[in-house]
Amino acid sequence: MRIDTKCIQSGYTPKNGEARILPIYQSTTFKYDSTEHMGRLFDLEEDGYFYTRLANPTNDAVAAKIADLEGGVAGMLTSSGQSACFYSIFNICEAGDHFVCSTSIYGGTYNLFSVTMKKLGIDVTFVDPDASAEEIAAAFRPNTKALFGETIANPALVVLDIEKFAKVAHDHGVPLIVDNTFATPINCRPIEWGADIVVHSTTKYMDGHATSVGGAIVDSGNFDWEAHSDKFPGLTTPDESYHGVVYTERFGKAAYITKATATLMRDLGSIPSPHNSFLLNLGLETLALRMRKHCENAQKIAEYLSKNDKVSWVSFSGLEGDKYHELAQKYMPNGSCGVISFGVKGGRENAVKFMDSLRLAAIVTHVADARTSVLHPASHTHRQMNDEELKAAGVTPDLIRFSVGIEDADDIIEDIENALNAAVK
Ligand SMILES: *Cc1c(COP(=O)(O)O)cnc(C)c1O
Repeated sequence: MRIDTKCIQSGYTPKNGEARILPIYQSTTFKYDSTEHMGRLFDLEEDGYFYTRLANPTNDAVAAKIADLEGGVAGMLTSSGQSACFYSIFNICEAGDHFVCSTSIYGGTYNLFSVTMKKLGIDVTFVDPDASAEEIAAAFRPNTKALFGETIANPALVVLDIEKFAKVAHDHGVPLIVDNTFATPINCRPIEWGADIVVHSTTKYMDGHATSVGGAIVDSGNFDWEAHSDKFPGLTTPDESYHGVVYTERFGKAAYITKATATLMRDLGSIPSPHNSFLLNLGLETLALRMRKHCENAQKIAEYLSKNDKVSWVSFSGLEGDKYHELAQKYMPNGSCGVISFGVKGGRENAVKFMDSLRLAAIVTHVADARTSVLHPASHTHRQMNDEELKAAGVTPDLIRFSVGIEDADDIIEDIENALNAAVK
C-alpha cells in the first residue's frame, strides 16, 4: 500500500461481521476461562490481552498503523511525546550510561535529557547538528548508548542530516533515534535514511485537531543488538524480571519494542487511554491530506513574510536560499511541515505586540494542528533557558513560531499583515 492508503487502511482490518471502524476497547482488563491460559500470557509465551497497561486492542491497532507509516516492524503508543522520548532512551540506557544528542531539539526534551535524566545517572552530551561527522564522533565515549536528533527541530526548524547522524551512530555501534514529529511519515521516513528508532509526539500533526496528548515509538527492526551485546545487555541477556527471557532471542526484530512494553510500560505505565487512541486514529486517517495543505499554505506564507519589510528574517526550509533548503530537498522533497519561524523587526518587544495583535492565529502552547497558532518561545516554551542556552537551541528573543493551519492561506496572510502593521511602525 502507498502512504495515503496506509493512513486509512493500516492497523485494523475487521473480520466478517465486525465493526468497520476501529472499536474503542474501553476496558482495563480481559477475561479468560482458565488460570493456565492467563499464566501463559504472563510468561510472554502466548499473545493475548490481559491488562490495558501492557496492551489494549485499540492502542495496538493505532501503534501498528504508525509503525506501518514509518516503515518499521513494531510500534508502541505512549501517553505523551515526552514519555516516548524518555522511554526511547531509558529502554537502552541505565545509570552510568551516556548518550549524544543534537542541541536543536524541543525545549521539553532538552529539559528531560539535560536535567531529569541526569538525576537518574544518565549523562548526555549535546552536539551541533550542523557539525561534521568527526566533531559529532568526538562526543562519543565507551559508555555511549544512543544518538538522538529531530528531523525538523521544534522550534529552530533545523533539518537533521539523518544519513550523517546514522553513520556516526553505527560507526560507534549504537542506534540513531529520530524524533519525526514535525515532518511526519508523510514527508519523511527516517528509517529509510538509516534511523533505527523513530519517536513522535502524536499530539501534533498526527492527531492534528489538538484533542489528545500522545506519543509513539517505532522500531525499524534493523539495529543488530546482538552484534553489540556488550552495550545492550538488557536486550541480549536474561531479564530476571520476566522469567529470564532474552528479548533478542525470543522476539528477534521486535526485541526493542517488546522490552519497552514488557518492562518500561509495565513499571512506569505511561499508556494512552483507548479513547484518545481512537481520536488519534481519526487524525491519522487524514494526515496525508492535511500535511499537503499545511505545506502548501506554509510555503505561501513564508514567501509573503520574506518579502515583508517589517520582518527581519524568515526560517522555512521551503524557501530557496534557506540554510536548510538543500537538506530539506533531499529528505523531504514534497514539503517539510507547516511551521515557520521568523523575527519581527524591533526585537522582543515588537514580537510581543505582533502576537497580541493577531486575531485569527491563536496564542497557544500547541503547534502543528489544523488551526493556525502562534507562540513566542523566549517567553513561553523556552522560558527556563538563559540567553546562551537559547542561542544554542537556535532560539532568538525575537523568534515567532508560527504554525500554519489548513485555513485559506489568504485569510492567514491578512491576519499577519494587520498584526505587523499594528506592531511595527
Ligand atoms: C511536542 C513535542 C514533544 C513532546 O510531546 P508531548 O506530546 O507534548 O509530550 C517532543 N518532541 C517534539 C519535536 C515535540 O514537538
